Amino acid sequence: MDSEVLLSQLAGSGIEATHEAADDGANIVVINTCGFIDKAKEESVNTILDYVGRKEDGLVEKVFVTGCLSQRYKDDLQIEIPEVDGYFGTMDMDQLVRTLGGDYKQELLGERKITTDSHYAYLKIAEGCNRPCSFCAIPLMRGKHRSRSIEFLVDEAKFLVNKGVKEIMLIAQDLTYYGIDLYGKRKLNDLLNALADIQGLDWIRLHYAYPSGFPVEILPTIRDRSNICNYLDIPLQHVSDNVLQAMRRGINKQRTVDLINRIRDEVPGIAIRTTMLVGHPGETEADHQELLQFIESARFERLGVFTYSHEENTHAGNVFQDDLSDEVKERRFDEIMEIQQDISFEHNRKLVGQSLKVIVDKQENDYFVGRTEFDSPEVDNEVIIYSDQALKTGDFVEITISDAMEYDLIGKTKV
Ligand code: SF4
Repeated sequence: MDSEVLLSQLAGSGIEATHEAADDGANIVVINTCGFIDKAKEESVNTILDYVGRKEDGLVEKVFVTGCLSQRYKDDLQIEIPEVDGYFGTMDMDQLVRTLGGDYKQELLGERKITTDSHYAYLKIAEGCNRPCSFCAIPLMRGKHRSRSIEFLVDEAKFLVNKGVKEIMLIAQDLTYYGIDLYGKRKLNDLLNALADIQGLDWIRLHYAYPSGFPVEILPTIRDRSNICNYLDIPLQHVSDNVLQAMRRGINKQRTVDLINRIRDEVPGIAIRTTMLVGHPGETEADHQELLQFIESARFERLGVFTYSHEENTHAGNVFQDDLSDEVKERRFDEIMEIQQDISFEHNRKLVGQSLKVIVDKQENDYFVGRTEFDSPEVDNEVIIYSDQALKTGDFVEITISDAMEYDLIGKTKV
């Protein structure tokens, strides 16, 4: 999303710029980095080195680096990779635009050049995070939570809808906190209602709600507003009280279980997506078994797992030893994914014979690929669609599900 805002700012100054996916032969390159966990850092550094190499070969004139990694490790990066022409933090977009020869325009705030498939887009409702999660470096890179106003977000959503966007993913490091900094109280429900009123916005979905202090008043809104997907991404990270406490998540097992039950009671049929973190310092085998049992009984529709990465300057990095081996972390990861694979298959099998509304994402060979309201792009299940009709990207179609796999469905358009 930051890349999309940058592209729009550059276009506003008459500077032609494209997303890498669209053009890999540029002479000035801006690399938007991630510094969240080791793997992402490695990928970002490799990309920087790759483009620095191209600069040395004369294929690229200048290389600039922005984003989280640059925010967090600017000084180190300047020493380690001095061939880069400029490092910018997450809050230095105006400086970056000026360095690229543009003029940062306040009137373009809220404007973006969409780089996703144009029928869906991400809407960042807040930046930063105030939570103290032991393992997380995001507050170090993104700063304190800053909500964007409801008016601003409604305007941005209308702008996206006018560009042809039909589905919007609300994202923030922490949706739950939305509004407290700006309005003195939680305002996610008001925001959802305001967005749901926008004509032409077919699907709204929510990513990354922190479980502690979850605004339960949004549950009837999700249930009753037809264009808010029955979908909630609520990263739980763990369920054992020992680990939750060490993680400083501000919630315990009982409250977690109560919350999940309440979500399911108030929004029947909701697809819950969660994320777990294995291998946190001090996670015992008993803690892990407790987590496995919880996953088995909670039967989440969608679930992802991360292995703990020991990050400097985080609470866990400062006070704990990274006491579990990579082998143990990997085994715990695999055990969760094995259970979840069966759960996902069981959920999918129940859909065979049913008719579902699906959005068409793309065409591949002789079939189309789409998603139900229970699936977010990039991370969730897909529906393989066979159809005699000429479907277009962004179309909504009724699909009869004919077969199910662990993570995908197969179906035909209804005749
Ligand atoms: S709520 Fe999310 S972004 Fe914020 S500190 Fe915790 S894990 Fe990090």
